[in-house]
Amino acid sequence: MNFKTTSISFLISVCLVVLLNYFNQVSLVWLLLPFVVYNALIIYGSATIQSDFFLKAICSAETNEKIIALTFDDGPHKEYTAKVLSVLKEFEAKATFFVIGKNIRENEHIIRQIDAEGHTIGNHTYSHSFFIDFKSKKEFKEELNRTSDEVSKITRKRLSLFRPPYGVTTPNLASASKDLDYVIVGWNVRTMDTTNDTEEKIFERVQQQMKSGAIILFHDTSEKTVRVLKRTLQLAKENGYEIVGVDKIIELNTNKKL
Ligand SMILES: [Zn+2]
Repeated sequence: MNFKTTSISFLISVCLVVLLNYFNQVSLVWLLLPFVVYNALIIYGSATIQSDFFLKAICSAETNEKIIALTFDDGPHKEYTAKVLSVLKEFEAKATFFVIGKNIRENEHIIRQIDAEGHTIGNHTYSHSFFIDFKSKKEFKEELNRTSDEVSKITRKRLSLFRPPYGVTTPNLASASKDLDYVIVGWNVRTMDTTNDTEEKIFERVQQQMKSGAIILFHDTSEKTVRVLKRTLQLAKENGYEIVGVDKIIELNTNKKL
C-alpha cells in the first residue's frame, strides 16, 4: 500500500458511495468511512519511513551475513561527534553520519575528521526544522543543496544519501530527493537515545533488536550515546557481527555499488 494505490482506492470508494447513494442504496454518511481510512493511512505513511508510502527507503537488508550498519544523526556536535569517532576508531568500525547543515559552522574540522577517517557523510537537511514537512519541493531542494554545498566545500564530495528528519516523509520531500538523485536511508533499530531513558534501557533495546542486515539509528549528541555505542560495539564483536558501511546494506537492496 503506497500513496498512489491508497489515493486510487480512496477515489474508487468515494465514487462507489456516491453511486450507491444515487440509487438510494446507502446514505452519504458512508462517505465518512473512506475519508477516515484515507487520512489514517496518510498519517501512518508519513510518520513511518519503513512503510515506503511516499518513497522507497532502505531500512535494512535481508541477509544471513552477520553484518550491521551504524548511523548517527543530528551532528556535527562540537563535543560528542569526536567522542563517537574515537570509540569507532578503537573498534575499527565505520559509520554513516547524517549531518544537519546549520551545525557545520564552527565544526568544519569535525566534518573533515569524519571524512578523513573513512566514514560516510549523509544529508539530514539544513535546518532540521520541526515544521520541515510543510516545506515545498523547492524549499526541500534548497535544504538538501545547501547542506551538500557546505560539506563539499570541506571534503570536495557531494552527498548522495539522505535521511529525512524525524523519519517523516511527504510527497514534496519524495519528489525533491528523487530529482536530486538521493538514496533514502531509514533504519530498523531505533535506539531512542535522545529520550530520557537510561543507558541501560537504551542498550537493552539495541541488544534485543540486533540482527543481520540491521541499520541502527543513534544520535551523536550525548555522552549517553557514546557509552551505549561502546557497549554495542563490544556486543557486536562478542556475537560475531561485522560493522559495515551503510553502502553495503544499500548494495544488498539494490544490487548497485555506490
Ligand atoms: Zn534528526
